[in-house]
Amino acid sequence: MTIPNVVLHVADVHKRFGGLHALADIDLQVEEGQTHAIIGPNGAGKSTLLNVIIGKLAPTSGTVVFDGAVLTGRKPFEINQLGIARVFQTPEIFSDLSVLHNVMIPALAKRDGAFKLNMLRSLDSETGIRAEAQDMLEDVGMTSRRDMAAGSLSRGDKRRMELAMCLIQHPRLLLLDEPTAGMSRHDTNTTIELLKKIKSRGMTKVIIEHDMHVVFSLADKISVLAQGRIIADGTPDQVRGNPKVQEAYLGG
Ligand code: ADP
Ligand code: MG
Repeated sequence: MTIPNVVLHVADVHKRFGGLHALADIDLQVEEGQTHAIIGPNGAGKSTLLNVIIGKLAPTSGTVVFDGAVLTGRKPFEINQLGIARVFQTPEIFSDLSVLHNVMIPALAKRDGAFKLNMLRSLDSETGIRAEAQDMLEDVGMTSRRDMAAGSLSRGDKRRMELAMCLIQHPRLLLLDEPTAGMSRHDTNTTIELLKKIKSRGMTKVIIEHDMHVVFSLADKISVLAQGRIIADGTPDQVRGNPKVQEAYLGG
């Protein structure tokens, strides 16, 4: 069944790593403007699913369609150019560069069609993108960290910076892999508030999370993954009361 307003459709995707069936029969439909969470215990296949969506891994079979375009077989940078940005479980940043410069780089790469090393030399002459990067840093509450080396940031601040690096691309779909992983309670709450603010702007988001409590306050829809299969999906209320979900977490 196809739901109207679906912007991302993962259709009948399987992924095998040798004998391991890491993803089986995955059918996932993400509606425009919604926050769709994928939850599940460690090892369930969440990161594998995200890597299939962004083109870092090829599915063994099945297709991924974004806004009418088949993503399967495309390279990660092409998929990024189609309007999909992602925050990784482990951020990929330039540690020696300032926070501001790190935020400018994805915008320059998008404008010029690719990242090139010589972009790093002309960062200070890019006044338009610099101003936009400053706005993004203000949005994520990091103006005071602007000139710090990115490598010296706390874990929570690094993730916020990475979020700014995504937002500056104005993606249609934002993918987040455990955005609060390793954060203190305080940083987790700040990040949830920030994600709620982004939600109110209508950007479609897919959030991968193993902490159920993080997603219940954010998600419109939740799909629960366990041992490579979607065992339940629906609204947070529908999923919360599902005995299969309780079992996957507690009995797993
Ligand atoms: P999650 O993100 O839900 O914790 P993953 O998607 O990282 O789970 O992993 C799902 C399963 O696939 C795990 O059993 C993991 O060990 C395995 N796996 C993930 N990536 C690879 C890989 N590149 N090669 C072999 N096995 C992998
Ligand atoms: Mg993972």
